[in-house]
Order: sequence, then structure tokens, then C-alpha cells
Amino acid sequence: MIARRILSIAALMLAAQGAQAATCQLAVEANDMMQFNTKKLEVDAACPEVRLTLKHVGSSPANVMGHNWVLVRTADLGAVANAALRAGREHQYQPPADGRVLAVTPTVGGGESTTITFETAALRSGETYSFFCSTPGHNAIMRGTLIVNGTPARLAADARQ
Ligand code: ZN
Repeated sequence: MIARRILSIAALMLAAQGAQAATCQLAVEANDMMQFNTKKLEVDAACPEVRLTLKHVGSSPANVMGHNWVLVRTADLGAVANAALRAGREHQYQPPADGRVLAVTPTVGGGESTTITFETAALRSGETYSFFCSTPGHNAIMRGTLIVNGTPARLAADARQ
């Protein structure tokens, strides 16, 4: 376990150097116009974890124009969006303990940002995932795809053993 962690840290340090290295950090901006600044994100499957920062660059408070970032399999998007609506405002429009949610950030208002870390072990290389904002009415516009490229960290680790 410790050895794996050291390997992970080494991988992250390598990733920080050089343009060819894995992209293990993602930054997404959301605004008062109900938009993300990107429709497409890419993750290198060699990343054991991805660190994602969601920044609300607008000025509207969270109860007016709050945004979050939810990652799901594309086929689950509609069902998870509906579950988020049923979860309601008290749960920040996030379905509690929903296994279909692969990653989710807290909801942020204007001027706020939040950073989460999620493991890539549940993601498959070559598969296309979808991200969206689960605030009611937002996902029609606030959605995009996340693609996983390369060899999964798990498989790479197995190959080294
Ligand atoms: Zn939103």
C-alpha cells in the first residue's frame, strides 16, 4: 500500500513535468450565463487520481445561480439528473449515495471555487463519460464529455509487478 502510494506520488511528480506527461488536474469554470467554459475534458488513464477545480467566475450567489460538476456514465445522465431534482435543494441537488455518480463537487456561487479529488479506478479507458451541472434546468446547457485516454494506472501497476 505504501509502495503504491509512493509510486502514485512519483507518477504525479512526473506528470507535473514535461508536456507529454499525464494530465491529472482539471480546471472548469462556470459563470452567471449558466455555462461551463468547456464541453470536453480529457483525463489520462495513467492518473491514479484526478484533481478537479470548479470555479464560479460570476457574481450571482449559489441560491440564484449555483453550479456543481457531476460525472456520470453518459447513459446515466438523464436518470441521475432526475434523481438530483428529487434530492432537492437541501441536498444541493445531489442524489445521496448514488453509485451512478462517479464524482461530484459541492455547489458554488459567484466568486467561489471548490476542488475535489476522485480516483480513476472506476473509469475505463476509451469510454466517454458525461459531466453536467445538476442544478435544476442547467444540464440542458451545462454539460460536456470527459474522455479517458491511455493505459489505466491499475493496469500499468500490474504490468510492473
Ligand atoms: Zn449550473
